[in-house]
Amino acid sequence: MTSDARQVRLASWPTPLEPAPRLARAIGLEADDLWLKRDDLVGLGGGGNKVRKLEWIVGAALEDDADVLVTTGAAQSNHARLTAAAGARLGLDVVLVLKGEAGRGSSGNLALDGLLGARVVWAGDTDNAGMADAADQVVADLVRDGRRPALVPFGGSSALGARGYRECADELLAQAPDLRTVVTAAGSGGTMAGLVAGLGDDRVLGVHVGAVADPARTVADLVVELTGADCDPHGLRLRLDQVGGGYATLPEPVVAALATTARTEGVVLDPVYTGRAMAGLVAAVEAGDVRPGERTVFLHTGGLPGLFGSAAAVLRAEAMLR
Ligand SMILES: *Cc1c(COP(=O)(O)O)cnc(C)c1O
Repeated sequence: MTSDARQVRLASWPTPLEPAPRLARAIGLEADDLWLKRDDLVGLGGGGNKVRKLEWIVGAALEDDADVLVTTGAAQSNHARLTAAAGARLGLDVVLVLKGEAGRGSSGNLALDGLLGARVVWAGDTDNAGMADAADQVVADLVRDGRRPALVPFGGSSALGARGYRECADELLAQAPDLRTVVTAAGSGGTMAGLVAGLGDDRVLGVHVGAVADPARTVADLVVELTGADCDPHGLRLRLDQVGGGYATLPEPVVAALATTARTEGVVLDPVYTGRAMAGLVAAVEAGDVRPGERTVFLHTGGLPGLFGSAAAVLRAEAMLR
């Protein structure tokens, strides 16, 4: 992939920045402190943060004359779903290499992958290296069949994809010039890296969700690649306390964050990413790392389909019915 790739447009920008006064008060901030950056409202394929990254990555793929996109992810990957949507929008075939086996449930993101016309290849229960091998095999098979595949990196988190969030940093500064902290979930790391590239490490608080082994190193490496400047992993503001039993589990602070956000603002978060990020913000306020009187932005990165792909989250939510 070329690094000076033209961007392709997949949505309308900027996304809204909305006040969240009732949520602010509920978590110990002043009413005017907390704002939601609504990247969940991006109008492609159900929305979410992968769209900004895909504008750069798929732009490069088109310049390279690709005719099929290949990417990897968990069965409930939002990134896979949005890659399928980008392919549909642009007339490219999409092959999703997903972890696990067929037949373990088909709700949430997987249902949307089907609607969007993606082909799914199940890689079995393997690790990240096994997923990469499975994707390489799919790419090799496509080339042998005379196709021109482009491999979209895990989570869209290359330095190229992270440019989408460096742009988002500029958008945020135009909408909230007095921004003190933007809070985001940190999964594959590109979202946080782009924000750090645009805002500096002191104004970005990442909440690790357990998707990578060493989030500080992952984010810092992407920042270095993106900016060409140094980035000290120890200088990043990263909370590691919301992973719980791992990616697929549903910790109690996450359930509480989902309910509080829904009941104060009518805004729905997801159990894997944004629910953890909100639980991390609550913990950061309790610890005095985010304080009343400062402008705080919570980046809503999307993920709603994943709520319906989580049996545990659906059961907990249904049990709240009165
Ligand atoms: C992928 C994802 C994230 C994390 O973004 P990264 O750039 O992978 O760190 C956060 N929220 C949602 C809903 C996501 O799908």
